[in-house]
Amino acid sequence: MTKIINGKEISAQIKEEVKVRALAHRERGIVPTLAVILVGADPASAVYVRNKKKACEVCEIRSESYELPEETTEEALLELIDVLNGRADVDGILVQLPLPKHIDEDRVTQAILPEKDVDGFHPQNVGRLSMGLDGFVSCTPAGIIELLKRSEIEIAGKECVVVGRSNIVGKPMSMLLLRENGTVTVCHSRTKDLKTVTKRADILVAAIGKPKFFDASYVKEGAVVIDVGIHRMEDGHLCGDVDYEDVAPHTSAITPVPGGVGPMTIAMLMHNCVKSAEVYRK
Ligand code: NDP
Repeated sequence: MTKIINGKEISAQIKEEVKVRALAHRERGIVPTLAVILVGADPASAVYVRNKKKACEVCEIRSESYELPEETTEEALLELIDVLNGRADVDGILVQLPLPKHIDEDRVTQAILPEKDVDGFHPQNVGRLSMGLDGFVSCTPAGIIELLKRSEIEIAGKECVVVGRSNIVGKPMSMLLLRENGTVTVCHSRTKDLKTVTKRADILVAAIGKPKFFDASYVKEGAVVIDVGIHRMEDGHLCGDVDYEDVAPHTSAITPVPGGVGPMTIAMLMHNCVKSAEVYRK
């Protein structure tokens, strides 16, 4: 029987846990606070920012919103980050990506203090993850580990195959699976004979950004399949990188799209915010 991993339910549990922790802080007079910066008017980014603000409300985290015009200069954005870095009452700083072309995303990401880098994108946090040290971890892969653990799926000793090597999903995902003692293989667009590799996987993480790319021929019978992709089809439906209808019957567990990995990203952002308040504001 295939278990459908319910990301909506698990993310709601995590948000509830975050709320309890945030309320405990508030009782001591500390209000966990996230500063969210949006530059420009990209409609998808505006939706993401709105959802993050809503999640803050649910979790009793205060959100401060900075909606800047498209023509904002890199210097002006860096100045704002500098001010927020220096404010003791701000625990997390999030700059919604992508930024307009004239702004260097790497410079901006690296300007955020690692202690307030709740997205886990700063090189110091990336380095800490690869060394097995505590720090902030990129929210989507951190959410996937929570999905696996809370669904009682063992990672230790399992063949884990991650397809995709981006800095925000594939690479941190592979590091986290390694930290959980999985045997990890990372694939990408230059991998030869992808199918042979993915068919070895006990746990397959699909994060390539291609709708319904993985059909049943890529999957070992009884594998756990985690679908990170999210795409809106012409008919308005959402789908992932996995052809769910074809693959699901062959798996022991699978994440649906929507309602799988998606909701976990914001839940883990909330988790990182409250963690920042706990660690750095005593
Ligand atoms: P990127 O485009 O940054 O990376 C895609 C990766 O997939 C690259 O490493 C690329 O390889 C690899 N790839 C592309 N095509 C193939 C192929 N045919 N075979 C093997 N590997 C391939 O994407 P992201 O990591 O940012 O995102 C991946 C997906 O996850 C997207 O659909 C995105 O929308 C979704 N996403 C969902 C989130 C959520 O909250 N649910 C959050 C973040 C992302 P190479 O490096 O060689 O180019």
